[in-house]
Amino acid sequence: MRPVICWFRQDLRLADNPALAAAQADGSPIVALFVLDDETPGIWRAGGASRWWLHHSLQSLGDSLEEIGGSLVLRRGRAESVVCGLADEMGAKAVVWNRAYEPYAIERDKRLKAALLARGIGAESFGGSLLREPWEVRTAAGTPFKVFTPYWRAGFAQWQPSPPLPAPTSLRSALADIESENLADWNLTPSNPDWSGGLRTAWHPGEPSAQFQLSGFLARLSEYAGSRDAPAAAATSRLSPHLHFGEISPRQIWHAVSSQPPSSSAEKFLSEIGWREFSHHLLFYNPQLPHAPLDPKFAAFPWSSDAEKFVRWTRGRTGFPIVDAGMRELWATGWMHNRVRMIGASFLVKQLGVDWRRGAEWFWDTLVDADLANNSASWQWVAGCGTDAAPFFRIFNPVLQGEKFDPHGAYVRRWVPELQLMPDEFIHKPWTAPSELRKGAKSYPEPIVDLAAARARALEAYRSLSAP
Ligand SMILES: Cc1cc2nc3c(=O)[nH]c(=O)nc-3n(C[C@H](O)[C@H](O)[C@H](O)COP(=O)(O)OP(=O)(O)OC[C@H]3O[C@@H](n4cnc5c(N)ncnc54)[C@H](O)[C@@H]3O)c2cc1C
Repeated sequence: MRPVICWFRQDLRLADNPALAAAQADGSPIVALFVLDDETPGIWRAGGASRWWLHHSLQSLGDSLEEIGGSLVLRRGRAESVVCGLADEMGAKAVVWNRAYEPYAIERDKRLKAALLARGIGAESFGGSLLREPWEVRTAAGTPFKVFTPYWRAGFAQWQPSPPLPAPTSLRSALADIESENLADWNLTPSNPDWSGGLRTAWHPGEPSAQFQLSGFLARLSEYAGSRDAPAAAATSRLSPHLHFGEISPRQIWHAVSSQPPSSSAEKFLSEIGWREFSHHLLFYNPQLPHAPLDPKFAAFPWSSDAEKFVRWTRGRTGFPIVDAGMRELWATGWMHNRVRMIGASFLVKQLGVDWRRGAEWFWDTLVDADLANNSASWQWVAGCGTDAAPFFRIFNPVLQGEKFDPHGAYVRRWVPELQLMPDEFIHKPWTAPSELRKGAKSYPEPIVDLAAARARALEAYRSLSAP
């Protein structure tokens, strides 16, 4: 029988994988393929932290496939040529995959489908990474949504996803000896220097770990609504990188959470999964989302070109403890708590006046959950230039945010050891502490901006946009 190629992309799992299930449906032999594509035009080449994750996730997927009688074929290059080439080489009957929604991926997949069909090879894509396809949720007028709440109500309030598909227990592998590249040769993990120690401590990529993470989270789901904004509490799910790489599907998460007793925590958590859906909806209908403000007024924003302040932000040396703690958590672990992402991003854009796209690029390189839809939509939200965004003139004060969400400074002390001995009263504004207390924190920088002056500058820049 001619084999079917199952092309894995951002769906590195066996369970609830519609493309894999379809490939297996008629008993055809399967070729499981992953392509490392850094070449497709317009591609957002995975950043350093994502590449580290990808390495381990592929290793885990390969192991899981071997346990059921398969193997993972690894190839590198421009995906269209690689997939077509392998389909020719194997005399494949069809190629199947689960859809991705990045603009370059949509264009690439359309071209690939046409090329395969022209060769007489079947090509079919499936929805496996979102609860609902971006085009399935529309306003009554048939237009895309711009604001989250009506989107969520219209698309998800009276709606239930179908049950997740089980993982296959065996896989009929294609018999031919198919050449596969060696994962280690891809150099996805850093060496010289190896900066991934913190990532290794914080994370276990792969489908089994994603399921383990979900079960652990369900056991403390009741804390979510009350503590999700406290960065010192481990109250959020930390499922974001697993979701980005498709080691777990949103449908599996939805069903697991819905099988718990109804609660405000379950509702709140599912609505965060909803923000992920909404970000993909926005990206699908606004392919310019990663590089252009959705509010065109912001195209003329007078951004600062102060390179030094940007570097101090990336290093966690701004002198504002909650911002620095977040940036150091990001550098060390490849992840940052959502509340601190909002505070740190807002500080960069509003107090430092730096273009949100520079911040988004830094996150892209350093986050293990870097995701084009979620990252771009969130930065536009913070910068006030998205469609459903925090207004620009509402400017977070990092001292007050720190005092509100990290009142005893536990999070700051975890990531900013210079402030270990600073009393709670001064932990978010150490420059105001009496000099004897500051002696122990000498290596911690002074604030790089005056908050009142920075706020006035930001508002002035914003006003200049609407001025005639
Ligand atoms: C400036 C900025 C940049 C961000 N960049 C990314 C990114 O690149 N990738 C990413 O996955 N998230 C991003 N987020 C959203 C959010 O911070 C993370 O999804 C969340 O912190 C992940 O932690 P968690 O899995 O414990 O979240 P939980 O609170 O447990 O939420 C569950 C899931 O819902 C989704 N989710 C939660 N909040 C959001 C949100 N605001 N927008 C979209 N989806 C959400 C995520 O998939 C998350 O895993 C960003 C937020 C900000 C403010």
